[in-house]
Formats: sequence, C-alpha cells, structure tokens
Amino acid sequence: TFESSIEFSEFKLNGDGLIPVITQDYRTGEVLMLAYMNEEAFKETLKTGLMTYYSRSRQSLWLKGETSGHYQYVKSLSLDCDNDTLLAKVNQIGAACHTGSRSCFYQELVKKEYQDSNPLKVFEEVFEVILDRKENPKEGSYTNYLFDKGIDKILKKLGEEATEIIIAAKNPDSEEVKYEISDFLYHMMVLMAQKGVTWEDITRELANR
Ligand code: AMP
Ligand code: ZN
Ligand code: ZN
Ligand code: ZN
Repeated sequence: TFESSIEFSEFKLNGDGLIPVITQDYRTGEVLMLAYMNEEAFKETLKTGLMTYYSRSRQSLWLKGETSGHYQYVKSLSLDCDNDTLLAKVNQIGAACHTGSRSCFYQELVKKEYQDSNPLKVFEEVFEVILDRKENPKEGSYTNYLFDKGIDKILKKLGEEATEIIIAAKNPDSEEVKYEISDFLYHMMVLMAQKGVTWEDITRELANR
C-alpha cells in the first residue's frame, strides 16, 4: 500500500476527466505504454501496488494483467510540473503490450542514426554475442577458436593483452591504448563466459563494495 503526497483532486484532468499515465520499466527506463487513470484507478493502484488504469474502450476499471498475467508492480509514481501527466516506474511481468511486445512503441516511423544513450550497453551486447557463440558455434569464429582451445589459451591471451595495455599506455598517443583496452575487455568477457560469470554478477559485486 502506498500513500500519495499529492491528492488526486489536485491533478489537472483531460476533457474526459482522466489523467494520462506514462509507464516505464523501472530498471531500464524503457517506455512501455501510455494509458489513463480516473480517481478510482489511482486509488486502486495505491492500495494494491499494481497498475490499474481506466479502460476508455471498455469504460471500466482495468487491472493491467488481469487476463494476460502481465501485471505491473508499482515502483514509483510521479506527477509532472503542471500536474497533468503521471509517470509510473514499474516492474513489468512479461509484456506490456497486448500484442506480446514488451513495449507498445514498436512501430518505428522515422530514425536517424544515433549513439546509444547508455554506451555501457555495448558490453551487454558483445557479451550476448560471446554467449551465443558458446551455445551455437560458428564456422571460423575467433571466439569459438578460444573456447575450443580452452581456459589456458584464454588466460594466456588475457595476460598478453594486459601487457599490451601497459606498453601502449607508455605511448603519448592515446589511440593505441584504446585498441588494447578493447582487446583486453573482449578477452575478459570470453573468460567471463567460460567461467559462467555475468555482467550482473560483476556490477552487483562492485556496487556492494
Ligand atoms: P491485460 O490487462 O494485460 O490482461 O489485457 C487485457 C486487455 O487489455 C487486452 O486484451 C487488451 O485489449 C488490453 N490491453 C492490454 N495491454 C494493453 C496495452 N498496453 N495497450 C492497450 N491495450 C491493452
Ligand atoms: Zn516541466
Ligand atoms: Zn504536463
Ligand atoms: Zn500495446
């Protein structure tokens, strides 16, 4: 059960007497869906800790997940600057969208190439590829060559790359050290995959220090 610091009566409602709610994955910030609440839905959400909206099509209270099992556990609710929009951060079970998509916003209309807002995501992505190579070996893959040679080969490469970082770091030009750190991190991720260690294990360990 939650208690809101601002009452529903303070909200600025739209023409239908509803307030739009943007719902985000609490961990990644991914926008999952947009729906509406009336006062009853808001109160029910606070009481149960499960996102409950007002369905405009069915004109009734809508406990998200009641038929699909794809419930949304409330982590936080925030009101925007002019009190006319709610933001919910939730622990989404399964998919937010009734189509089975995790987010409702999968219909990309236009796009310009851009750098991912979280550059660290590339670690996850490269690691995913390494794990996939381990499961589904690919002809001519250097990663599979390392797995096939085994742990001693991986450790030998890791040691070499660490040494190359040190040598490159003595060079006033920073280009070289960039390559060597990348080589090292790649080989370290191969070792992680070999040892069954995930990025989550590492980040949790670091966060707890
Ligand atoms: P659920 O609340 O997930 O059990 O879904 C119940 C019904 O609500 C579905 O059959 C859809 O008609 C509708 N619905 C569920 N999720 C969404 C969504 N993200 N956006 C719009 N309608 C939805
Ligand atoms: Zn503002
Ligand atoms: Zn606003
Ligand atoms: Zn949807």
